[in-house]
Amino acid sequence: MSNRPALPIYLDYQATTPTDPRVVAAMLPYFTTIFGNPHSEHHAHGREAREAVEKARRQLAGLIGADEKEIVFTSGATESNNMAIAGVARFGREGRNHVVTCATEHKCVLETVKALAEEGFETTIAPVDRHGLVDLGRLADAVSDRTAIVSIMAANNEIGVVQPLAEIAAIVHAKGAYLHTDAAQAVGKIALDVDSMGIDLLSVSGHKFYGPKGVGALYVRRHPRVRLVPLLHGGGQERGLRSGTLATPLCVGLGEAAAIAGREMQAEGELLASLGLRLQSGLRRLVPDFWLNGDPARRVPGNLNLGFPGIDADRLMAEAPEMSLASGAACASSSLEPSYVLRALGLDEAAARASLRIGIGRFTTEAEVDFAVECLAAAVLRQRSVAPARARG
Ligand SMILES: *Cc1c(COP(=O)(O)O)cnc(C)c1O
Repeated sequence: MSNRPALPIYLDYQATTPTDPRVVAAMLPYFTTIFGNPHSEHHAHGREAREAVEKARRQLAGLIGADEKEIVFTSGATESNNMAIAGVARFGREGRNHVVTCATEHKCVLETVKALAEEGFETTIAPVDRHGLVDLGRLADAVSDRTAIVSIMAANNEIGVVQPLAEIAAIVHAKGAYLHTDAAQAVGKIALDVDSMGIDLLSVSGHKFYGPKGVGALYVRRHPRVRLVPLLHGGGQERGLRSGTLATPLCVGLGEAAAIAGREMQAEGELLASLGLRLQSGLRRLVPDFWLNGDPARRVPGNLNLGFPGIDADRLMAEAPEMSLASGAACASSSLEPSYVLRALGLDEAAARASLRIGIGRFTTEAEVDFAVECLAAAVLRQRSVAPARARG
């Protein structure tokens, strides 16, 4: 076996990423030295903190082609998604009372849409094809001049599939509705431009791209101006959209993560794609009969979702503690249900249970990939030797 990496190996970069040490370094002074309230603009302590927050706002805006005035800091993508979807729906522009999303969204989108249905809004959940791409024909049928907002994620957290946002925007805008995208898995991984992609609202999560946990942002378009009802009421910070004192160190960390991603994203993506191929070709030699969930081409680098016929992924994870892997989304993996995302692609229960998510990222090494190949293959073969393989179905 090649040089053995430190164990356990982290292969769950879609659940969260470590904070980049450069991000931590940028944040540190804002806990102790520059601690002022960024909303206290009448003294120097406050103004210094304010300047740091505004720099971070520009850094994040720059990464997605937005204007800094269009960025609202939040506690993470969960809050941003709630705020965008419920906020636009409840604003009730032109009496529009219909909300559309798709079946493979993150729980925080699906649960927000469900809560809106309970409030009396009409809701539609569009299906996806077997690769996880939203069915554009069904989406076009669903969107009408009663639709307030359509929420379709940029990249999926389980299968990495990248949705055709520009095409979706054309469908949505033809009916005068707004397009929101949960870009938690796309920001810092692939190029995003809110104008050329026709995005009206976009959710960001700091900890999915090497920023700190507990911070995120919502992009809200100003031309034409998207209006929404805030979730939090109070001092009217963030132009009245998100009351509460901003967490200066977390905002600074999010900004620094965005600046690093802007410089390094392309090269990093190429590196991750080649590590992903190395992992797949290594596995093919040892356990050739696995399949790839999601679209083979339209996916974010770093995400592999593989199915191993006859395997129970949860059992494999328990039997291979040398690797931190996932069998579904982090937030749903405590439930006994197989992944609803994989089921929405048409996988039956056994095939969904046989699937593993392997997430590699900035700090993954070749030695870790090679070790993971051997470790995964051994775990698959071990499980098959005790339980006879069932057919993939
Ligand atoms: C992680 C994630 C979220 C939730 O983000 P938090 O910042 O942890 O609230 C939402 N959507 C997707 C696609 C995610 O991957």
